[in-house]
Amino acid sequence: MFPFGCRSSLPPRLPRPVPPFPGETTASYVFRLAVANELHPEDLRTHMAGRREHGPVNLDALAAAAGRPRYALAWALPELRPGAGRALSGYVRRTVCWRCAARRGSFPYAAVWQPAEICVCLPHRVWLGSAAHPRLRWQYDIGRLPEIIQAQGKHSRLARRCGRRAAITAIGEASRITALWARHGFYRDRRVPLIRELRGKVPITGKLPSFDDVMAAVTYPETVDLARVLAMPRWRSPAEAAAGDLQQFEREVRARTGIDYTAAVPLVPEAPRSLLPDGHGECAGPGIRQLASSLARQTPRSKSQLSEAPQVRASLVPHL
Ligand SMILES: [Zn+2]
Repeated sequence: MFPFGCRSSLPPRLPRPVPPFPGETTASYVFRLAVANELHPEDLRTHMAGRREHGPVNLDALAAAAGRPRYALAWALPELRPGAGRALSGYVRRTVCWRCAARRGSFPYAAVWQPAEICVCLPHRVWLGSAAHPRLRWQYDIGRLPEIIQAQGKHSRLARRCGRRAAITAIGEASRITALWARHGFYRDRRVPLIRELRGKVPITGKLPSFDDVMAAVTYPETVDLARVLAMPRWRSPAEAAAGDLQQFEREVRARTGIDYTAAVPLVPEAPRSLLPDGHGECAGPGIRQLASSLARQTPRSKSQLSEAPQVRASLVPHL
């Protein structure tokens, strides 16, 4: 297009403007702008850069080509803000809510950056996905599932109260536990109505395979409730694990999650990696490791209890 070098001026405005979604990724916006103007995305990049090289998108050139104010484009496209990298800490990349896209008549697979604690498009009651289950990205209409809407509110409050990074850690730990509960069919009372609503039927065994697309959504309410316990300073960094701590921990989990715990199945059948005494997790909390290690020595369980759930590894009681 410009065989003798770079263009010294800004590119001309394209005939069809395209408004960006808030938080849209630069690649997604360039793709949609190109398609709307019947260009190949690579040709649009060449149009903006003035040369056929694959380099970063220049904010001034994109603003000129899109016909939008520079500050407005930088506000909408976070990757173009000064100092931003390709991955935004504490944010996750998601497909935009399909109802938001339909309302604009937009390409339905636009990608946006959203805070990790946002799993739902509240105006449209659409489940967008969880950062804790990045491979399960199916969107669902959750208009008849107020539990998930309420869990979204609790999740946002958790992130505000203890910080986004701490919330990501606690949700990640809790989601591994609740996914394990779902795979084994434990504590299913809260999940069954959600599974029935999203899938139309419930597996006869009550167990969900880990790759089931509804896994993230149907475990979300109990994940958030459990994460609120795991994020408590008392369980993240106890000064000293004391006798009765495990019972207190279990009481708090029961109170927060509403799970009808029975002693035949450990409340935490398999602790997240950061809870393990030898602490292999990337978010290992020394306090919880110490607590888990100490609690393990304090919590004898009978062989009959274990035999009722032989497939379950009781990580909080690893000596068993
Ligand atoms: Zn929406």
